[in-house]
Amino acid sequence: MRQKLVVGNWKMHGSRTQVRQLIEDVAAGTAGLNDVEIAVAPTFLHLGLAAQLSQQVGAEHPKLAAQNLYPQEQGAFTGEVSAPMLADYGVTYVIVGHSERREIFAETDQAVAVKFQAAQEGGLLPILCVGESLQQREQGSSEEVVLSQLDAVIAAAGVEALQSAVIAYEPIWAIGTGKTASPEQAQGIHRVLREHIAKSNSTIAAGVRILYGGSVKASSATELFDQTDIDGGLVGGASLKAEEFISICKSAD
Ligand code: PEP
Repeated sequence: MRQKLVVGNWKMHGSRTQVRQLIEDVAAGTAGLNDVEIAVAPTFLHLGLAAQLSQQVGAEHPKLAAQNLYPQEQGAFTGEVSAPMLADYGVTYVIVGHSERREIFAETDQAVAVKFQAAQEGGLLPILCVGESLQQREQGSSEEVVLSQLDAVIAAAGVEALQSAVIAYEPIWAIGTGKTASPEQAQGIHRVLREHIAKSNSTIAAGVRILYGGSVKASSATELFDQTDIDGGLVGGASLKAEEFISICKSAD
């Protein structure tokens, strides 16, 4: 049985006051949810504060995720943060290959694979994002795109590496646009991803959690999370509103 996971990607948002409030509200609002795992990903700057608050609050939720990492342990890499540094702060997950990093920061499939491996070597669980653009969907190449993004990681790290990782299917056309993939559209791609992994290792395929991301809201979460191969959500905009995010977490419980 795969435990559902809901991760809030706060992107480049938040002040210290907002971070404090959100952590406190999410911790209080998700207390007593036993069947769902919950994490939030503040900016690097706010991770320390979030870690401190989580400890003070002493609640089971939320765990912490980072939005990025640099694939070296330490050294002369001005402006970067490594996996061991994040793990040292109590961070559990790290998002790799988010479409905003692929598009704005020109991260290639190969660069994403290197980050994926560095995350695991540094003691973090990578959340590997894959997803097609609107043009690729309209051309009918959604499956080909997501499988090639996944294969780049499998080629570098081996299929066994997926045992300690999470996959997030995030169609680019649904991110921050308010257009959610229909539960059937999302389930279709999730199934393709799982079946692809099963060709190499059916046990790993059955165990790996595949999240859906792309304008998930409280109103769409239940139907999405009810799909056989959807194991929770990676939530952007809606994760900045405590009530909305808590409601999404409840849908996964
Ligand atoms: C995301 O950035 O991972 C995301 C899914 O954003 P949103 O929910 O705002 O579409």
